[in-house]
Amino acid sequence: MTDIHGSTHDLVIGGGATGVIMAAQILRQSNRRVTLVGRDAVFGHGIAYATKDPDHLLNTRVANMSAYPDRPTDFQDWLAANGLPSDPEGFVSRAVYGCYMQDLLRPWRDDPRLTVLQGEVVRLRPDTAGVTATLEDGRTVQADRALLATGHALAAEEAGMDNAWRFEGQQATEGRVVIIGSGLSMVDQTLSLLNSGHRGPIVSVSRRGLLPLPHADDPPCSQAVDPPVGVPVSRLLHWARQQARAAEAAGGTWRDTVDSVRPHAQALWQGMSPDQRRRFLRHAASWWGIHRHRIPQGSWARIRKAMASGQLAIQRGSFRRAEPGAAHLRHPDGSESRLEAARIIDCRGILRDPATHGSPLVRDLLEQGHARMDPLRIGLDVTTDGALIGRDGRPEPRLRAVGPVARAALWEITAIPDIREQAAELAR
Ligand SMILES: Cc1cc2nc3c(=O)[nH]c(=O)nc-3n(C[C@H](O)[C@H](O)[C@H](O)COP(=O)(O)OP(=O)(O)OC[C@H]3O[C@@H](n4cnc5c(N)ncnc54)[C@H](O)[C@@H]3O)c2cc1C
Repeated sequence: MTDIHGSTHDLVIGGGATGVIMAAQILRQSNRRVTLVGRDAVFGHGIAYATKDPDHLLNTRVANMSAYPDRPTDFQDWLAANGLPSDPEGFVSRAVYGCYMQDLLRPWRDDPRLTVLQGEVVRLRPDTAGVTATLEDGRTVQADRALLATGHALAAEEAGMDNAWRFEGQQATEGRVVIIGSGLSMVDQTLSLLNSGHRGPIVSVSRRGLLPLPHADDPPCSQAVDPPVGVPVSRLLHWARQQARAAEAAGGTWRDTVDSVRPHAQALWQGMSPDQRRRFLRHAASWWGIHRHRIPQGSWARIRKAMASGQLAIQRGSFRRAEPGAAHLRHPDGSESRLEAARIIDCRGILRDPATHGSPLVRDLLEQGHARMDPLRIGLDVTTDGALIGRDGRPEPRLRAVGPVARAALWEITAIPDIREQAAELAR
């Protein structure tokens, strides 16, 4: 058993993008020690940046992907320093971004303040001295606070399906491929299939059948706006449509409005009552998602071409279950069908309920009462500055959620531009 003791010492749990950004911010902004613990052999990748497929592009322009809010050209500079195309308006692959994330802690490689451990934290206990974490192999780490950067709750592997984030490589087939979901991961998987020479049909099934919309050639022109906070969702949507029409009348596009509203997204979410949040999730979240998470023009053109040729079909419906060689679907009219499939790819993305799908650590925190679910069960209940709220309703300032783990309080906290702000703030 290895014991690592420290007093002014932060423990960052999770070796994905959020974990390395958080660790880097603490090291940059303070003289605290940091122990970063991650399950995977490579740090910085997590689920988003582990892909090696060059067709899996960032959906955010280079100019917006710096790890540091106060150094907006950091990613661009890294690309240039590594001899890679560094057009600030361009879209590079997520594999390249993964290399940037992997490099982020390089300046502190020989700094005795940084300890990096590979392993899984399975237990975390706040105590009078701070926090004690226990890894799966019995090692313990003591620190004076812990930052949970453990990412998204993921679906368990389902028999008969490939999970879009857990497999690499496409086997071209003549048969039909059924993709469950029609969001960004569906776009990734379809592009990979097309590139691999797949000639069979591709059917994407999702409840609403909505596709992500494309970026324009030029970056949007965001403006200062003052969205109404705390109003019914229908009124907020009405306001947004009016803004979009005004942007279009002024020669811009709806993207100008979406990007102008984005800095207000956390305040809008926090201004909603639980009932308004529920309504937003039911009626507006998918609409917001397809406008907000846009795909590069090149990806959009290839998806449209596959749709126009009939190779890719988008069907409305919900996935019931998979069996070898077929997917069972329910259609909007209530009927059910069995769709034969040479392969089924699960692109349902992020699951919302960490109590059901969370890691052993998250489940343990819930069981021990150090955390509780938020009322809508979309994540752990945390304060706006990330402190976990325990079963007794009291915030625990020694346990902080960073990145997607803080989603129930902040909603827009999955993309790098939001994560880097929160990490910088927490480090301060
Ligand atoms: C497919 C995809 C594409 C995206 N594209 C973009 C984009 O173009 N632009 C953008 O801004 N954002 C994008 N995002 C969003 C964003 O960058 C991710 O949400 C972000 O990477 C979140 O990283 P994370 O480290 O919080 O979580 P994760 O990537 O889920 O990583 C969490 C890590 O923590 C580890 N871990 C979990 N529990 C423990 C534990 N108990 N002990 C030790 N380790 C643990 C896991 O093994 C994992 O490595 C994308 C997201 C996805 C999924």
